[in-house]
Amino acid sequence: MIVVDANAAVNRRDGAVIDDVLLAIRRPLEFAARNDYANVMALRGLERTVERVIDRGLSLARDAAARERLEAIRAALAGFDGEGAEGRRARVEAARRLLDAPVGAPTPQAPPAAPQRVESPPSAPRVPARSRSPVAPARRRTAATAPVRVAPAPAGDPMSTPLQFIKGVGPKVAEALARKGLATVEDALYFLPRTYEDRRRPVRIAAAEPGTRVVILGEVVASGVAFFGGRRRGYEMAVSDGSGVVHGRWFHPPGGGFQSRFPRGTRVLLSGDLQRFAGKLSMVHPDVEPADGGGDAVHFNRIVPIYSEAEGVPQKTLRRILKSVVDAYADSASGSIPPAVAGELALLPLPEALRAVHFPPEEADTAAYLAARTPAHRTLIMDELFALQLGLAMRRRGLALEPAPVLRGDGRLVDRLRARLPFALTAAQERAAREIAADLASGHPMHRLLQGDVGSGKTLVALVAALVAVESGYQAALMAPTELLAEQHYLTAHRLLAPLGLEVLLLTGAQGKAERAKVLRRIEQGDTHLVVGTHAVIQDQVAFRRLGLGIVDEQHRFGVAQRATLARKGERPHLLVMTATPIPRTLAMTVYGDLDVSILDELPPGRSPIETRVIWPGQRREVLEAIRARIARGEQAYVVYPLVEESEAPELANLKDATQAAEDLAQALPGVRVGLLHGRMGADEKESVMVAFRDRRLDLLVATTVIEVGIDVPNATLMVIEHAERFGLSQLHQLRGRVGRGSKASACLLVASGRRTEEAARRLAVMERTTDGFRIAEADLEIRGPGDFLGTRQSGVPDFRVANLFRDQRLLVAAREAAFALVARDPDLSDPAHRGTKEAVRRRWAGRLSLAGV
Ligand code: ADP
Ligand code: MG
Repeated sequence: MIVVDANAAVNRRDGAVIDDVLLAIRRPLEFAARNDYANVMALRGLERTVERVIDRGLSLARDAAARERLEAIRAALAGFDGEGAEGRRARVEAARRLLDAPVGAPTPQAPPAAPQRVESPPSAPRVPARSRSPVAPARRRTAATAPVRVAPAPAGDPMSTPLQFIKGVGPKVAEALARKGLATVEDALYFLPRTYEDRRRPVRIAAAEPGTRVVILGEVVASGVAFFGGRRRGYEMAVSDGSGVVHGRWFHPPGGGFQSRFPRGTRVLLSGDLQRFAGKLSMVHPDVEPADGGGDAVHFNRIVPIYSEAEGVPQKTLRRILKSVVDAYADSASGSIPPAVAGELALLPLPEALRAVHFPPEEADTAAYLAARTPAHRTLIMDELFALQLGLAMRRRGLALEPAPVLRGDGRLVDRLRARLPFALTAAQERAAREIAADLASGHPMHRLLQGDVGSGKTLVALVAALVAVESGYQAALMAPTELLAEQHYLTAHRLLAPLGLEVLLLTGAQGKAERAKVLRRIEQGDTHLVVGTHAVIQDQVAFRRLGLGIVDEQHRFGVAQRATLARKGERPHLLVMTATPIPRTLAMTVYGDLDVSILDELPPGRSPIETRVIWPGQRREVLEAIRARIARGEQAYVVYPLVEESEAPELANLKDATQAAEDLAQALPGVRVGLLHGRMGADEKESVMVAFRDRRLDLLVATTVIEVGIDVPNATLMVIEHAERFGLSQLHQLRGRVGRGSKASACLLVASGRRTEEAARRLAVMERTTDGFRIAEADLEIRGPGDFLGTRQSGVPDFRVANLFRDQRLLVAAREAAFALVARDPDLSDPAHRGTKEAVRRRWAGRLSLAGV
């Protein structure tokens, strides 16, 4: 039970209000920090914003701690505008740490009396020692004193012991941890250090570099109250090691007798970011510990773990809690990998790996720890990936046993379609069609992903698959994520299939009642062979007479749940999932690990290559010229902007607004018909603009990213992407794929708006160099990470606790092989030696990856 006192509630409310206000600082700082501070010099006039925001915050802050935090943020960013990259970076780092720091949190407490400190690890307790002497629930007003045991820990799985039962975790801390997703011992054990700091060897002050994180060992030569920024009362401690002096500064000094613990003459270890400030070497809010005797083995004289901080729980508290948890519970952890397999893979026992990952052994290699490349890391990563892949392997095997309609086809419709096409299928299309046909005839449900770059001809493969279903006496459904795209597919399908005597109908949310009713009736009676539509297709009222095949286009915009709904219609329809986002192999193995994959790795012949150029500020005239030239030739062009309105952070908004741009372009290009398309428009409005563009009633379309998945306009031959550096590479690739669809030579201009940084140049150069979507996707994944890559929560990418899909590609392959091999040997994991494995898979899949329901 968690007891919340009234003060905490007020502080939290206060904190939330202020955090809102602070967003206006947080956003630019996050922007500045992105891609290893690539943008740090692009921030302009930050100090002005900071003044405004902090003043506003101060006018709202009711409690002292919040005010102090605001002042500290102001102080950290003082002088930012005039600094170079290094100075700015140091300030951003310091400010971000303060932004992430607790509001109204208890300041670090003096450690509890000796007997209550970290306990030595009992060996593999089945039941936590504490629970043997339950203490009645206690109500307390504050959590400021020693921790209290609130309720008896449940007997049973030690891994699910709530963190309240850990020493040092009072109700407030438990609540803060819970907000961070840390509720149980297991959560904590897998809450791995964000990074590590080598505190084994202090450096001499004279040799220490400002702008780096260092540990120094010295003697307190002066300490006391100090004033920062003229009005802020803080605390300062000067530490000398004979070679120099470092000033430790606290804007809001920790309480709990902190100051009296470090009188003059105390030898201390000081760890923090070294800065040169007004000629002095200083550290803001360093970690400090007595160096002699009392020096804490958890925080110093070792490679120290640094955790991502939970609001309300200072780093040191967090570290001490983790130490207790690891000492007492690591031995109870059991992994997913059977011992025999672990041996083959040369992994450590899981408890040993957990201990070493949190608290590296004395002689550990710091570099290996920082890179997450130690045997301990490898063990934990493999354990996680193995559990995932095992689940996928079992699921896939389960599907392979289920019955589904046998769709053998007889080729009569497919042959007639081929005969009518003005071109031959590419070899890749032929191969994919064969793979699909084999699945459809197998008697078990197909679950296949058709991956192909923009323009690779997926639609045609889908139509061939639909014809096989129809030849076998079944219906097919094709679903797209937007009305526009559904209509486009409908027009294509109708054009190609109606001449074969088939009924193709469109079903969307936009249809009138009467029309919809008619469509539904025809589907139900089985008159309709192919239904094309949006999500409306899978709504409950839609009853197919005999649905044999469901096709889903643009998978990652389509929730996993929707995929599941479709799969429930009909007997057990086959499923084909198409994606235009080329998904790197590693990601496909996890997101779609239970699907078979066909790849269209070849574009139809006769495509004109898209010539791509990056335009840096100062070359803008060329853009206007290029647009003018294209339109003069009777071709059309797109101009895409990332934002439709001024951003909330005007400092960043040298972002031009698409609306403004449309007006400017219309002025600059007299006689050119300019249209505007953006996300705030209604569906009808959007559609009418798109149709006008398709029908050449507009020459130039200025748009936000809504055209990413859009209509096919072969006459559009120029794509201008503004603020190109703000898009992910895959998104740029998708956008670029809107041109080059006809035989005319097309071009893409990537207009960069910021300063020409190394980083931006390197990224955008990828686009100039290649039009291969897979290579671009790999580069994008490397730069952005998997979550961002797919862009949506629903993307189905599991949250990994330890693994990192980009970094750990090779381990993923190894884990997958081992998992699939195990399922091949023991399909139900019924071998007693696999009992632990089975349990681990069950637990890790519970509530994750709802793929399991499809
Ligand atoms: P995507 O894979 O992006 O969905 P589409 O299916 O929309 O690609 O195909 C893009 C264009 O290529 C369409 O105009 C289509 O008619 C054409 N196309 C498809 N297959 C071939 C082929 N084998 N040869 C020539 N053109 C093709
Ligand atoms: Mg398509």
